[in-house]
Amino acid sequence: MPSAVISDVHSNIEALGAVLEDVRRRGIGRILFLGDAVGYGPSPNECVELLKEVCEVMLAGNHDRAVTGDTPIEYFNENARAAVLWTRGRMSPENIALLRSLDIIKILEPEGLCLVHSTPRRPEAWHYIITLADAEVNFRYFEQKVCLLGHSHTPFIVEKTPAGELVLHRERVRFSVSSRYIINAGSVGQPRDRDPRAAYAVLTPDGAEIVRVDYDIGETQRKMREAGLPAFLIERLGEGV
Ligand code: ZN
Repeated sequence: MPSAVISDVHSNIEALGAVLEDVRRRGIGRILFLGDAVGYGPSPNECVELLKEVCEVMLAGNHDRAVTGDTPIEYFNENARAAVLWTRGRMSPENIALLRSLDIIKILEPEGLCLVHSTPRRPEAWHYIITLADAEVNFRYFEQKVCLLGHSHTPFIVEKTPAGELVLHRERVRFSVSSRYIINAGSVGQPRDRDPRAAYAVLTPDGAEIVRVDYDIGETQRKMREAGLPAFLIERLGEGV
């Protein structure tokens, strides 16, 4: 059974809607969400409610935890912090309670999946996997065949072969019987790999693929301007940075 793996929606309902449409079109019945439903964008309640309706698994990310007041926001940059405070003032108590109830890491057995927003090594520290060296360290901190994560908003697939070699796959991979994998599903609502299209991953028992989907970026930017969110956050959506 194929799964859609989505992460870092960041209150972008236009991007989420386009991704869910693509998921439906492909006939994929299961959706796994890796965290950061909110922060940055203009539609936090809509995104949380839609995710709750369609996702089989839902994790929390650092922005979700910041909005609920469960992780410090001193470490956020000025724009991210402004968006967290804006979001906090607009979310319904029910949606805040829902975000607060979510785990930040989850193991799915027997299929052998580790799901986490940031890293399996220290999920609560919100570290990033940027380099192959970061990936190498993190392979020691989960036992399953595949770890699915997000957080950096940059999709990638890293394979660790039985010989210990690391292989970077950009768009797709076919699973080999004895390799293990770390897959970053990228970001639905705020991609940062210079491709502004929404990103998510399709996972099957045989492999994984990073998918890109066009959405109405201008409409999201219009809502952000109307909401008075920081200009930098509005502009970056158009560039995918
Ligand atoms: Zn994020």
